[in-house]
Amino acid sequence: MASDCIFCRIAAGEVDALVVAEDDRTMAFLDSSPISEGHTLVIPKAHYKGIVDIPEEEAAGVMTMAKRLAMLYENRLGIGEFNVMQSSGKAAGQTVFHFHMHIVPRRTDDGLSLWLHKNERLRTDIREVYRKIVG
Ligand code: 5GP
Ligand code: ZN
Repeated sequence: MASDCIFCRIAAGEVDALVVAEDDRTMAFLDSSPISEGHTLVIPKAHYKGIVDIPEEEAAGVMTMAKRLAMLYENRLGIGEFNVMQSSGKAAGQTVFHFHMHIVPRRTDDGLSLWLHKNERLRTDIREVYRKIVG
């Protein structure tokens, strides 16, 4: 555990959080600055910075928990639409460097604009990128 990591401290029970679900490897709690009703963070209890260093089975555990919460929130909050988001790295907007997935319940016309938009400035050749990726 990283003692200077706020999410490690939440996982260890040293810092309070409104925990909505937990199993042996993962924990889900309400975001303290929610952007929508029910905005939740799902974390592995162990410390990993982001998508590159989290082991596959831990990442799978986080996604499984996210899926369970979606069903729970449809039941309890009556909200069955979501953005499920994850930021890895400063450039991507990550501010807490302990892997976490955001579950953001959405309602029609809630005014949020969270997903991908056209990037008119980007000049990239997708075939060139494809060659770099697949070799
Ligand atoms: P990021 O920007 O790294 O993807 O998201 C970090 C999230 O953690 C933010 O939405 C922020 O509101 C939330 N957060 C930061 N500190 C705490 C805390 O101490 N408790 C809880 N419940 N959420 C936190
Ligand atoms: Zn941590």
